[in-house]
Amino acid sequence: MTTQDLSAVQGQENVWQMAQRQLDEVGMLIGLNESLHGFLRQPKRVLEVSVPARMDDGSFRMFTGYRVQHNLSRGPGKGGIRFHPDVTLDEVKALAMWMTWKCALVNIPFGGAKGGVICNPKEMSLQELENLTRRFTTEISIIIGPEKDIPAPDVYTTPQIMAWIMDTFSMQHGYSIPGVVTGKPVSIGGSAGRDKATARGCMYVVDEAMEAHGRTIEGATVAIQGFGNAGMYAAQLMAEQGYKIVAVSDSHGGVANEHGIDVKRLIAHKFETGSVVGFTGGERTDNKEVLEFECDVLVPAALEKVITAENAPRIRAKIVAEAANGPTMPDADDILFDRGIMVLPDILANAGGVTVSYFEWVQDLQANFWEEDEINDQLKRKMTRAFRETYEQAKRHGVSMRKGAYCVAVARVAEATKLRGLYP
Ligand code: NAD
Repeated sequence: MTTQDLSAVQGQENVWQMAQRQLDEVGMLIGLNESLHGFLRQPKRVLEVSVPARMDDGSFRMFTGYRVQHNLSRGPGKGGIRFHPDVTLDEVKALAMWMTWKCALVNIPFGGAKGGVICNPKEMSLQELENLTRRFTTEISIIIGPEKDIPAPDVYTTPQIMAWIMDTFSMQHGYSIPGVVTGKPVSIGGSAGRDKATARGCMYVVDEAMEAHGRTIEGATVAIQGFGNAGMYAAQLMAEQGYKIVAVSDSHGGVANEHGIDVKRLIAHKFETGSVVGFTGGERTDNKEVLEFECDVLVPAALEKVITAENAPRIRAKIVAEAANGPTMPDADDILFDRGIMVLPDILANAGGVTVSYFEWVQDLQANFWEEDEINDQLKRKMTRAFRETYEQAKRHGVSMRKGAYCVAVARVAEATKLRGLYP
């Protein structure tokens, strides 16, 4: 799940330099003022912390963690915390910058931030993870808070970990502060609809893309790589909407049926056996074939870098919706654009998650919780508008939807930064 080895494919360029280069390209496109450009190229604040955590054998171990705030001109920082052995500062800086653009694109009043701890949660007990989380929260508590910076789950961090963050921060202040973190369990201030929000948001932008292509949804075919939170719910929601799910895969392999997979039965099979493999309602296939399956919509919802210059010429979908972060390599992006395939970029296609995180924060601050229908309606409004603004910019500049999305987002952040002016 780490993005750092993107550098290998970009020559010597690492993931942070890649994020900066993306900004440079869009800066030229929208005529970004040189000073503002320089401002947006750097993170506002970088905090590195040493985190001692008590292990089960009574010893304590030192871990290194980071919290980076890229830009706070539009509001408090927002972004997940990643627990992974490959976390690097450059990766966290890049992810924080991408959060700035994602929040701006869906027009929620947050800046971009991200955190990470270099650790391997798979080798730690629950108690050790709790100790690490509570001490890391304490170390970064000087820069987080409901008005300052609001973490969320990311790779290998769960609602339980968010609950520990909320509790630690609350204990330090002497009262409950649910708005310090999102992605919490519903019983302590989490939001209805958060579990399906990424998939639902992705479906809403695919609906818009279908309309832009003059296509009807009923019977349109969909292939999905990944059958976890994003992929499984995308399959379920899209099937309910009338799409025909023709191929899906997970880390063990895939299943395909050109007449349409019975998604309800497939989900039951996945819960029973732990995989989509062995499902009797389709033919066995593999991950590679799922990406290249004949379909209207391809949803990569698993890993990064799965669409490359090598397989891009064989992608047969008309629309690619990036539920995953970073599934398309830059070279592949150019190939798909030249082939007239519309790629809905990750900062648009998976922004449903952060959007409902925003709703969670609003509900926590108001201590007033909404019905799921209301959440879904508001999510739809935000996603639809973001699609239309992206589409308009892409058309205007004759560029990909990815560049169009960056044009919208960067211009929005630049405007806020400029309006606030330079202090002192
Ligand atoms: P998850 O862990 O719930 O599911 C991941 C799925 O990918 C699993 O089904 C797994 O079997 C599958 N997978 C792993 N290796 C694979 C392989 N080689 N080929 C095919 N499938 C493989 O994770 P998730 O939360 O669904 O996240 C998936 C992607 O979506 C990630 O890139 C994540 O950053 C992105 N995303 C998720 C959210 C969210 O709210 N969950 C929000 C924004 C972005």
